[in-house]
Amino acid sequence: MTTVVVGAGMGGLSAAIRLAAAGRQVLVLEQHALPGGKVGQSSVGDFAFDTGPSLLTLPDVFDRVLRSAGTSLREEVTLRHLSPSFRYIYPDGAVLETYAERDATLENVGRALGSRAQKELEAFLAYAQRIWAASADNFVFSEAPSFSGMTKLGPRAWLSLPRIDAHHTMIAAIRQRIKSPHLRSMLLRFATYNGSDPRCAPATLNCIAHVDLALGGFGVEGGLHALAQAFVRVAERLGVAFRFDCPVEHIIARAGQSGFEVVCKDNNFITDQIVVNADVAHLVETLLTAPGEKPKVSTPFSTSGICAVFRAEARAERAAHTVIFPECYEDEFVDLFDAQRVPRQPTVYLCDQALSHGRPEVAGAVPVFAMVNAPSVTREQESAAEAAVPSTLALMRERAVASGALRTQDEMVWHRSHVDLARRYPGSRGAIYGAASNDAFSAFRRPPNRVSSIPGLYLASGSAHPGGGVPMCVQSGLRAAECALEDAGTAFPR
Ligand SMILES: Cc1cc2nc3c(=O)[nH]c(=O)nc-3n(C[C@H](O)[C@H](O)[C@H](O)COP(=O)(O)OP(=O)(O)OC[C@H]3O[C@@H](n4cnc5c(N)ncnc54)[C@H](O)[C@@H]3O)c2cc1C
Repeated sequence: MTTVVVGAGMGGLSAAIRLAAAGRQVLVLEQHALPGGKVGQSSVGDFAFDTGPSLLTLPDVFDRVLRSAGTSLREEVTLRHLSPSFRYIYPDGAVLETYAERDATLENVGRALGSRAQKELEAFLAYAQRIWAASADNFVFSEAPSFSGMTKLGPRAWLSLPRIDAHHTMIAAIRQRIKSPHLRSMLLRFATYNGSDPRCAPATLNCIAHVDLALGGFGVEGGLHALAQAFVRVAERLGVAFRFDCPVEHIIARAGQSGFEVVCKDNNFITDQIVVNADVAHLVETLLTAPGEKPKVSTPFSTSGICAVFRAEARAERAAHTVIFPECYEDEFVDLFDAQRVPRQPTVYLCDQALSHGRPEVAGAVPVFAMVNAPSVTREQESAAEAAVPSTLALMRERAVASGALRTQDEMVWHRSHVDLARRYPGSRGAIYGAASNDAFSAFRRPPNRVSSIPGLYLASGSAHPGGGVPMCVQSGLRAAECALEDAGTAFPR
């Protein structure tokens, strides 16, 4: 029997590699022409650029999947160490650069914001490191947490709970530890790494500061999409078959027999195991017909984005990543989560893809990706939400030019809005990280990778455990595959 994987996003590719490495036959069905899902690429003539993620964190997660296939991350792609990595530009004119190395960042905080801010950040990173140490194994790298599972883990797991600081909100923990307004904004922004609201997300998410500032963020030579291509290459070496431009229309559990019928426009497939990388909401609302209880879609949806790419003059003095904060950063969360609208004064994020990913210069120009956060959108909200896009793109450009990161003559060559994302990824509402982590129990509500009520069905995406962001989705695929292998009695690699 062949395992069918629906979707060639990073979760689907990771699952396909792990399954094939253990000897399963695997067929990946992808609705679009390219792999990678949100880790996309596009081009205008010979000017190619990434359309999705800009920053790679937790490289060990990718390495683990590739090692199961007898290769490694280092053999398949070249990671780029960025120093400086981020330039934060504040409304009072202050500028702070962070580095790939924690100590270099701390020293620079001392230079830019003073020794008190440096000490505050040093202590905060020690706190963030403790949270990561106490939470990663129980909430990211193991099966989806459940209340009954926590009971089984025993007293050590319960004793570690206060260390993950889930009883405070992110914002409260930051305010308590950090007086520097500049550092506060930088640390609050880490909530947006999984599209959450720092005013209600548990302080556990402060571990993202450790992941980003201490473990480090990387560029990928050729762009993040090169990583998706590398995963396809490795999968093909293991014999995985791919069908692109092949949207799955229905997944039907076979009555009275085990397995599923997977219905596409031109073909049907029968399989005993199916791994779904498409959004869980798409599976539940559209694709799946099965007698057992369907997985529950976790809400609220995370944030989306309005994105653009500029053909910009190549300039060495631009930073790899630039963040331009507005006058009052906290208002952004009021707009996104309370009013459900695009921020009136958005934070603008820019990534110079030549500096970050070694994208080549074409006639003196390099791709600069830009994004502002936007709320997720339901089908009913789509047309009203679309109306905000042109003015947001204009504001994005204006703020980037005012900060010096772009020039007036730099041309916008591509854009994709939150509404476009909602239409491109069915069921997603445009959310780019699945469900937001907006309360202390969100990790417990994410659907597990094995749907125990429907034998043979597995979930591998940002809308399932352990959540959104590229490394989490890759981990989701790995877990989904391991559950499938365990159930098929082939838990060990060839
Ligand atoms: C603009 C942007 C910036 C981002 N920045 C970052 C970042 O810097 N760092 C980071 O870690 N993360 C970032 N993310 C988030 C990250 O890209 C996602 O969390 C991750 O890539 C999602 O992977 P996934 O496995 O859930 O699958 P997806 O990427 O959602 O892919 C699912 C796949 O399933 C396919 N599919 C859906 N339905 C069907 C069907 N019926 N039949 C066949 N195929 C189907 C889709 O076409 C798609 O290819 C960003 C995302 C975006 C959009």
